Amino acid sequence: MTTRSEAYTRAIAAIDQHRAGLSELSQRIHATPELGYQERQASSWLATFLEGAGLRVERAYRGIETAYRAEAKGRDGGPTVAILSEYDALPDIGHACGHNLIAIMGAAAAVGVRAAMDGLPGRVAAIGTPAEEGGGGKVALLRAGAFDDVDAAMMIHPSTRTLSSRTSLASDRVDLEFAGQAAHAAAQPDRGVNALDGVIMTFTALNAMRQQLRSDARVHGIITSGGSAANIIPEYAAAKFSVRALDREYQHEVLRRFIACAEGAARATGTQLKITVHENSGYQNMVPSTPLSQRWAEHLTALGVTVQEVGEDERMGSTDMGNVSQAIPAIHPYIAIAPDGTPGHSTAFRDAAATPQAFESAIAAAKAMALTAIDIMSDPRLLEAARTEFERRRKDGVVHGQAAAAKGGREAAAKKR
Ligand SMILES: [Zn+2]
Repeated sequence: MTTRSEAYTRAIAAIDQHRAGLSELSQRIHATPELGYQERQASSWLATFLEGAGLRVERAYRGIETAYRAEAKGRDGGPTVAILSEYDALPDIGHACGHNLIAIMGAAAAVGVRAAMDGLPGRVAAIGTPAEEGGGGKVALLRAGAFDDVDAAMMIHPSTRTLSSRTSLASDRVDLEFAGQAAHAAAQPDRGVNALDGVIMTFTALNAMRQQLRSDARVHGIITSGGSAANIIPEYAAAKFSVRALDREYQHEVLRRFIACAEGAARATGTQLKITVHENSGYQNMVPSTPLSQRWAEHLTALGVTVQEVGEDERMGSTDMGNVSQAIPAIHPYIAIAPDGTPGHSTAFRDAAATPQAFESAIAAAKAMALTAIDIMSDPRLLEAARTEFERRRKDGVVHGQAAAAKGGREAAAKKR
């Protein structure tokens, strides 16, 4: 039998022993950005690292080429704690979301827990989850049953602030394709059907709709194809959009209205419209487990890192960890690695994700995650508290926890007016 404090000491020592390897791994992934579902090198390097540290590794987990699962088992019985890594990059600007650090925080924590494992009941599973930036690796893994045997899941995201829990926006990715008829733009404009106009009118209708949306809604897009020459009426045009809001219910309403904008644009221009709502890109809003988030914050504070308060008006994106959090108790805290005010998905954030200071912060956050995992295995009351909260939210119909809160707040605000 190991006492809990012995387990903590072993975990921290193991993470420190692997510092050089983890730092090198972080730099290598940062210098080799790979897009979602193409992270062949990053996933392979991480799997090899975990194997070298004594975990049993399954590559191409659940048939997803760039996913993996690395396990270490303790005593029989006890819960299975999943520690997740992401490692995909963004197009053009590389690791501007700092997923190289998410990757190594997951690997570090798993190595730490493994070192403490022989005295603990349960299992740690380091799961490599590809394509967070829109491709929904966790959505695909959930559908494939990858989390069916998992009791709680954790990961940490780099940020400009250190927060134990924050929600995220529910989101869908939508592709629009308009088909028209090519014709000489000067000689026979009356014979053409302009597909680009379908895209432009969608943006115009969307911009009008924006005025009538709740302030948490976000609809934004890019034109990916808009014709090939000024003297040809474009017969094909395409655009990609994200449609988001604080809760899934309202987000679906915004999606319905957005699709109506596109359909109206198709009617107005006489074009044929093809709409694709990507199945794996349906991200639910994050509902972080309060007991587990608090425990992580306590450990991080004890390690000398200040945990900040979540503000009233947090800026947020979306993550497929939201889907995991609506299936099992889960946390997705943030660790500050860049000066406050640095925008996410920027070259400044990308450069910050490769600094020695960022690595140090990541290691502290990973240690706190390892200690939280040890607590989940060694303190049944903690997991019980997480399950009780999760079940209560489910019963209340507010696994979309903050949806109800947001709605309540808005109704109160509306009454004041
Ligand atoms: Zn990210």
